[in-house]
Amino acid sequence: MSTLAVYPGSFDPLTNGHVDIIARGARLFDRIVVAILVNAEKHPLFSLPERVDIAREVFKGRANVEVDTFDGLLVDYVERRKAQVVVRGLRAISDFEFEFEMGNMNRKLAPEIEMVYLMTAPEYLFLTASRVKELVAFGASVAELVPANVAKALEAHLGQGGLRTGATESND
Ligand code: ADP
Repeated sequence: MSTLAVYPGSFDPLTNGHVDIIARGARLFDRIVVAILVNAEKHPLFSLPERVDIAREVFKGRANVEVDTFDGLLVDYVERRKAQVVVRGLRAISDFEFEFEMGNMNRKLAPEIEMVYLMTAPEYLFLTASRVKELVAFGASVAELVPANVAKALEAHLGQGGLRTGATESND
């Protein structure tokens, strides 16, 4: 039986920390779906189609990485896709608390789905999507933190004056 994993998140924007988790997930499982959350409440900087296009471009060479979107409960999406595993990345203790709570809720809702947590590579320990937006808004280079197409898209948003709002989002 082949194993399908789902890696859910906002990816606003995709960072090298996410890319690392996806690449590692793609080695562990037969197939991994990067599932981008349609989250109306969060006022993302990048529209859903932009986030999808960016991720598809980054992973276009990898046959077992798929990019999709989902809305509503994660476990409903995972069941609909007939996936067995949910992958999440862990950075700090604060991630752990949030993931522990969410993982236990998911287990209650759908005990057959296994949550797998991959520890961040040390170089991405302090990398968050909101930090990236903040750095760009203040003119710092993020070339080493995000894929090249993300850096370009961030510059474009900066040119349109839309970045300061995004940078003040507390969640990523
Ligand atoms: P969310 O809004 O659910 O946190 P994100 O798009 O920020 O979604 O992240 C999706 C997943 O990627 C989460 O499991 C998050 O912990 C993980 N992640 C984010 N940044 C990093 C990083 N630098 N290293 C490892 N994992 C990360």
